[in-house]
Amino acid sequence: MTDALSRSAIRRIVIIGGGTAGWMTAAALSRLMRNGHSSITLIESDEIGAIGVGEATIPPITAFNKLLGIDENDFVAKTQATFKLGIEFVDWTRRGHRYIHPFGEYGLDIEAVKFYQIWLKLYSLEDDIPYIDEFNLSAVAAKLERFLKPSTDPRSVMSSLAYAFHFDATQYAAYLRRYAEARGVKRIEGKVVDTTLRSEDGFIEAIRLESGEKIGGEFFIDCSGFRGLLIEQALHAGYESWTRWLPCDRAVAAPSERVRDPIPYTRASAHSAGWRWRIPLQHRTGNGCVYCSEHMDDETAMAQLVAGLDSPLTGEPRYLKFTAGRRKEFWKKNCVAIGLSAGFLEPLESTSIHLIQAGVSKLIALFPDGEFNPIERDEYNRLTALQFEQIRDFLILHYHATERDDSEFWRYTRSIPIPETLKAKIELFRSKGRIFRFQDELFGESNWLSVLLGQNIRPRTWDPFVDALDYAQIRGQLMRMHALIRSTAEKMPRHQAYIDRFCAAAKPVR
Ligand code: FAD
Repeated sequence: MTDALSRSAIRRIVIIGGGTAGWMTAAALSRLMRNGHSSITLIESDEIGAIGVGEATIPPITAFNKLLGIDENDFVAKTQATFKLGIEFVDWTRRGHRYIHPFGEYGLDIEAVKFYQIWLKLYSLEDDIPYIDEFNLSAVAAKLERFLKPSTDPRSVMSSLAYAFHFDATQYAAYLRRYAEARGVKRIEGKVVDTTLRSEDGFIEAIRLESGEKIGGEFFIDCSGFRGLLIEQALHAGYESWTRWLPCDRAVAAPSERVRDPIPYTRASAHSAGWRWRIPLQHRTGNGCVYCSEHMDDETAMAQLVAGLDSPLTGEPRYLKFTAGRRKEFWKKNCVAIGLSAGFLEPLESTSIHLIQAGVSKLIALFPDGEFNPIERDEYNRLTALQFEQIRDFLILHYHATERDDSEFWRYTRSIPIPETLKAKIELFRSKGRIFRFQDELFGESNWLSVLLGQNIRPRTWDPFVDALDYAQIRGQLMRMHALIRSTAEKMPRHQAYIDRFCAAAKPVR
């Protein structure tokens, strides 16, 4: 059988950029293109460097690891990673309030009625029904700082656990670089200074390096970061700004010393004009402060970051500027933008690395041949735009559904008119607690439920089908689920003990 690539005229794939996006793309393509018919060249500039932030991920990354066939414990050891069971949101709903957005599902449905509908009724009627996060194994384990890999047996409560990672972004890129180079990816260090377009159709023909070297290709992947070297500077794809909904446009990031065993979750704490992140790694803690420059200056943001630390900084602070939004076309001519060159959504729900993974997966699913049928390009652009918009709505929810009115920033964000898509989702939930996953939306029912309830949006009533179930029976089942989840979490090893036992090669220097 002839494989698709041997029929294809795409023999030379050129990736510009060696940050997380460039190396994830190179690693995945090198894994799939084992036929030797196509070459993959990655160009990166040491002088420009990679952004170096981006340390928190979400569970689909485990599928990426599977695609690459990497040993996860080795990966955790080599990237100083820790396990992540969710995100704790502090001071978002109101000051002094906290909730967890855990990974994995809540409880079990009873007689085809959604678990959370049953919980909603019981929680509304009785004071001693635990809050919903007590019915999610990842949330309970996170609070107890425990970790164990999920079971593959769907009958076990351990199968409901889901996890992701916190890792050192620089070590992650280095890890994937070793992987990709071992599979034939050629790396060239150099600065791209020029792009040549074909006169007949405007396709990219070659790029030129500062050294004068010209590198030609049939297919170019722009992973050059915010600058969008090919997609914007050469092909002028355009950018759709979403700052009217997501006004934060700056961040300052700095690592601090490790002082305690790492917690298995990210913490996102709101402040007067944005929020701070805290990402525990094996060897240090990653910290950052995201802010809106119209409401906070750089010095105050740095003071905010320092105020949230419990240990001294170990590196220089790095200031970053961004504009929330997306490229109007992600795939234009013979170029696809992946990573920050495709768009940016603040890291509130740790979605950027996922967007890279999703971009690579869609590219693989729609990989072109030398004819570049526009149908594949259009589908890629349609699906990617939809995914960006769905994540955008999810992020806006955090700023919109807040009771905070203690600063101009919060008074402003809660008053911004929200997209119709989000408005409809909130109204449907308010009515009877109903949530639907739209097509292959990244965030499903349990994710929306965590944040809608966490931000204190309460449905007026529950699904009428819950009333058809015997009250005493569902109450009994709910409380048994609760006890099982808690006892299962209590039996799991402590997060640090799990790392010490299974990912021992990189024991942190204490
Ligand atoms: P970059 O890392 O900027 O890499 C660009 C590459 O292009 C570099 O190798 C550079 O040398 C090369 N390059 C550029 N111009 C040239 C040229 N002329 N010639 C040659 N090479 C060139 N994501 C998450 O999933 N979770 C998080 O917790 C998270 N936190 C973040 C916090 C902040 C403040 C920011 C800004 C982003 C965060 N992200 C997060 C996003 C994440 O950092 C990025 O998605 C990820 O690092 C991918 O970046 P990149 O590879 O697209 O770009």
